Amino acid sequence: MINFNVPPHTGKEMEYIGQAVANQKICGDGEFTQKCNAWIEKKTGTGKCLLTTSCTHATEMAALLADIQPGDEAIMPAYTFVSTADAFVLRGGVPVFVDIRPDTMNLDEKLIEAAITDRTRAIVPVHYAGVGCEMDTIMDIAKRHNLMVIEDAAQGIMSTYKGKALGTFGEFGCFSFHETKNFSMGEGGALLIRDEKYVEEAEIIREKGTNRSKYYRGQIDKYTWINYGSSYLPSDMNAAYLYAQLEQAEEITDARKACWNRYYENLMPLAEVGKMELPYVPEHCEHNAHMFYIKTADIEERSRLIQFLKENEILAVFHYIPLHTAPAGLKFGRFHGEDKYTTKESERLLRLPMYYGLRPQQVDCICEKIKEFYAD
Ligand SMILES: *Cc1c(COP(=O)(O)O)cnc(C)c1O
Repeated sequence: MINFNVPPHTGKEMEYIGQAVANQKICGDGEFTQKCNAWIEKKTGTGKCLLTTSCTHATEMAALLADIQPGDEAIMPAYTFVSTADAFVLRGGVPVFVDIRPDTMNLDEKLIEAAITDRTRAIVPVHYAGVGCEMDTIMDIAKRHNLMVIEDAAQGIMSTYKGKALGTFGEFGCFSFHETKNFSMGEGGALLIRDEKYVEEAEIIREKGTNRSKYYRGQIDKYTWINYGSSYLPSDMNAAYLYAQLEQAEEITDARKACWNRYYENLMPLAEVGKMELPYVPEHCEHNAHMFYIKTADIEERSRLIQFLKENEILAVFHYIPLHTAPAGLKFGRFHGEDKYTTKESERLLRLPMYYGLRPQQVDCICEKIKEFYAD
């Protein structure tokens, strides 16, 4: 059986968790949390990184920091995970969905401006499969209309757009370290903060509305309730698990890329004769091989291929049901313009097994089966 995903594990995780326990500081912001924050800051060049309990929570923090009020609108794709929209809905905000580009599955930057109203407060690009959205255009629109940019970079760690790390363009960037992502801590994430001016408020919101972060650093004698907030900081044991992988980030990424390229080359002949389609990565985007997907002719062919692979002990899965067609999406959001590609392309997309530890021979075997499927 070839699984679709296996959580990343490099070997040092248990040792580091043991160290966190020996430190007698297993709550948030211990040694390993600080190490992870510093590593991400150095790697991405962001102003400040705060490890969080999930990417969902990082996005919720971003919506709080952006001061989203009831009725405020955030422009985003409908082809995304629920958290992208829910963080705004929780504040009474309205997700305004625009269509995606069929080539990258990212929101179509050319459709953003027409969706702007006097209630629009933010643009929320989602870097699908770790491939960057058109950030030059998006940042230009945001600047001209005085909007915030909150990047859902859940899948985007180690990826760049024109040489700059995803998650560092907007006011806020959100990473995920869920077990399905390139690096994991079980459940976890990070909030990347571009400008210094938001850091103090972010620390307070993350620490239940208190200034405990300052207290820990010895900057004040006692801490107190300053603002609204919640508990968005992860246990240092989880951070210890993550740190073992961040130390091996290049190795993990290289291994994933090797699998990604092997899929691509192996399946190229099928794409060339138009049997199916391969993913597209723009020249100026460096990706992290978060995902390898193909596109079948339609949903019916996809179902048959999933079944065929399953019979051959290979687990392949599809991805999001577009949010504007989901019960909560219908209730809380709206789609601006025509759904030309979101539904159609989402129904064709099939994700193939991809994880750290997937062997080249397994990739070959999966490709052989796909060729067999398309042979008749
Ligand atoms: C995984 C993912 C999330 C949610 O991440 P969690 O850490 O599980 O909260 C949000 N958005 C996208 C695009 C994702 O892929």
